[in-house]
Amino acid sequence: MKSKLEDILKNARGLFQEADTEASLNDLKVRFLGKKGELTNVMKGMRDLSAEERPLIGKIVNDIKNEMEELFDARREDIHHASLDRKLREEKIDVTLPGRRSPRGSKHPITLVTEEINEIFSTLGFGVVEGPEIENDYHNFEALNIPKNHPARDMQDTFYVSDDIVLRTHTSPVQIRTMLQHKPPLKVIAPGTVYRRDSDLTHSPMFHQVEGLLVDYKVTFGDLKGTLQAFLNRFFGKKIGVRFRPSFFPFTEPSAEVDIQCVICSGKGCRVCKDTGWLEILGCGMVDPEVFKAVDYDPEVFSGYAFGVGLERLCMLKNGISDLRLFFENDIRFLKQFTN
Ligand SMILES: [Zn+2]
Repeated sequence: MKSKLEDILKNARGLFQEADTEASLNDLKVRFLGKKGELTNVMKGMRDLSAEERPLIGKIVNDIKNEMEELFDARREDIHHASLDRKLREEKIDVTLPGRRSPRGSKHPITLVTEEINEIFSTLGFGVVEGPEIENDYHNFEALNIPKNHPARDMQDTFYVSDDIVLRTHTSPVQIRTMLQHKPPLKVIAPGTVYRRDSDLTHSPMFHQVEGLLVDYKVTFGDLKGTLQAFLNRFFGKKIGVRFRPSFFPFTEPSAEVDIQCVICSGKGCRVCKDTGWLEILGCGMVDPEVFKAVDYDPEVFSGYAFGVGLERLCMLKNGISDLRLFFENDIRFLKQFTN
């Protein structure tokens, strides 16, 4: 029996040493020291021993049991350290690897153009004002000399929220709001979103304008021309040919459409300017005395000019964009070209 026990111990020593995971080590513990383990089995045979032999073998069994437990604990410790080492090695951070960059957003091209226009007019001494996109009939039409049933209302396909409330069809109501709040002289621009029931290749139901308004003593059409010329030169970064064509707007008198020499072909004629060499770019005029009366300014004392320009058109011409819809489709491949 003694040699049998020594064989078990020898076998156990080898196997414990070979075990390389906690799971296989636990299996071994069950195999040798468990209730149905090899050592327990041998101890069952002790019943048949003589009274002299029993304590001797009992001591040997105890020693073996203690040694096995020590072996188990020591090996478990080793395995634990080894796996910790391996984990540390595998998870070591290589500081020489390049980092992962998160994608950066960019401003929408219309926002960029708005900011640029604000900047140009700020240096010309204009303040920037804003107004609500949901307007009442009075600010959007009435005070701008467009009474109900006036044919000029047909010029603008309006989104009506109710009989009296509209989505503003232009940024001009901001002129009225500003003049009602402040006494002249005034020098402001009003960029913003406007809405019209119009949707095709060159029209979007939502688009953007910048409105300009200057009111002072003895303002002339020459002041208007000079300001617009300075703005267009700055915006396109070169001297721009400009011509004024007589036109009609209810809120200005006289009124003019402004054309610029085609920035694509420099006036030679191309597809964009339909071979005319000129591009329609904005509407303007001297503020109509009726508008001054609506905001309680004395048209005998004050005069002023106003202009309105479409931002999408300016942005398209400046960046060579041919399709208006690109501004509203939110295609990231289009938008990220304007990362600044
Ligand atoms: Zn052209």
